[in-house]
Amino acid sequence: MTYHSTRDESHRASLSTTLQQGLAPDGGLFVPSSFPDLSPSDFEGLDTPAPIAHRLLRPFADAALADSLDAICRDTYGFPVPLTDVGRRTAVLELFHGPTAAFKDVGARFLASSLSVLNDAADEPVTILVATSGDTGAAVAAAFWKKPNVEVIVLYPKGKVSDRQEQQLTGWSHNVQTVAVRGVFDDCQRLVKDAFQNDWWQSNKRLSSANSINVGRLLPQMTYYAAASLWHWRDTGRAPNVIVPSGNLGNVLACLYARRCGLPIGEVVLATNANRPVTHFLETGEYRAFETKETLATAMDVGNPSNMERLRHHWPDVDALRDAVTARRIDDTAIRRQIERGPKAWDTVWDPHTATAVEARENLDPNDERDWILVATAHPAKFPEVVDPLIGRAVDVPPPLADVIARSRPAPEIDPSLDALREVAGHA
Ligand SMILES: *Cc1c(COP(=O)(O)O)cnc(C)c1O
Repeated sequence: MTYHSTRDESHRASLSTTLQQGLAPDGGLFVPSSFPDLSPSDFEGLDTPAPIAHRLLRPFADAALADSLDAICRDTYGFPVPLTDVGRRTAVLELFHGPTAAFKDVGARFLASSLSVLNDAADEPVTILVATSGDTGAAVAAAFWKKPNVEVIVLYPKGKVSDRQEQQLTGWSHNVQTVAVRGVFDDCQRLVKDAFQNDWWQSNKRLSSANSINVGRLLPQMTYYAAASLWHWRDTGRAPNVIVPSGNLGNVLACLYARRCGLPIGEVVLATNANRPVTHFLETGEYRAFETKETLATAMDVGNPSNMERLRHHWPDVDALRDAVTARRIDDTAIRRQIERGPKAWDTVWDPHTATAVEARENLDPNDERDWILVATAHPAKFPEVVDPLIGRAVDVPPPLADVIARSRPAPEIDPSLDALREVAGHA
């Protein structure tokens, strides 16, 4: 399997190379050049996420990773991803049982594990530069913390993440440094992209990225869709339909990839918050970036989703893309309402991101008889400022998250410029 750039198909690379480079040399994003043609029978006898992941990802790996892939998948899934029935032909795929209580733990741990294998023999550490709108940085920091041969610099927009997210971002040490940027998420993302094109960074650091632009984050996210769809298929003989809370579009793209590999997945719906780039594009066929709008689902506050470039590469015809995926835009009023009524209506406490999927589910035709999986992207205890007042009590913090919170301390602040970043990163 090779990978090529979204901007120029002649830029080809193996999985190991894409993991280490992050971005293609022409500034494009790497995508798989082909997809394996699998069916549920290829997964016979495989019940848990790690072996299912190994079977699915085998065709995507190159020789440098093939022998370690089984161990990498087991390392990635050090926690369960339960599919919980909540009634009304609806199940919830709980992706929040990892160390930082959000789905990004899966991709971050796969990437950390893979890079650690690949850099085993190197004498220079690889520098992971990561922009975060909240959860990415925490997941990446937790996954890479104290791993040999890698250093990590996490950039987050000061004041644009919740207090609890900030606590998870800032408690790190050793090979992990966190920097607070005076700006929005798109500024952080731009800094990362610019560093990749910049001479000083190119000559002084072996740069890689751990954002959802890295194939090493994207591919493992296919695996929980594989597991959940197989479980549902074996139980019912039906392919489930899936609703994915989305911002930068990495998670939903992984779902579309899993379906393309032959997994039994029906309709894919992406739920956004009030930010408009995706719904505007699907409605009009014209893509444009929007100013980032702040909402209750902060990790989805993205005005110019980077994975849009991959979506448009795979589905250059907008009508074909409309067939592949539909989008629902959910505003803060609906998010609040769903969190508030969650305990009564679904016997569940939703986090603000998952609440967008719940709203999208409830907005379906009341006569819809199909089976739906709602993707729960985070644990509600990550967002107590929003959730606690709406349900009238404090959500219990899962123990791994409590450990992370206990370590937090303030991070240095910078203006959104490469010079300022270089100033702090020089001491990394
Ligand atoms: C990152 C994140 C999202 C959005 O995922 P994308 O892959 O960027 O679309 C949704 N919910 C939570 C909790 C997140 O952390």
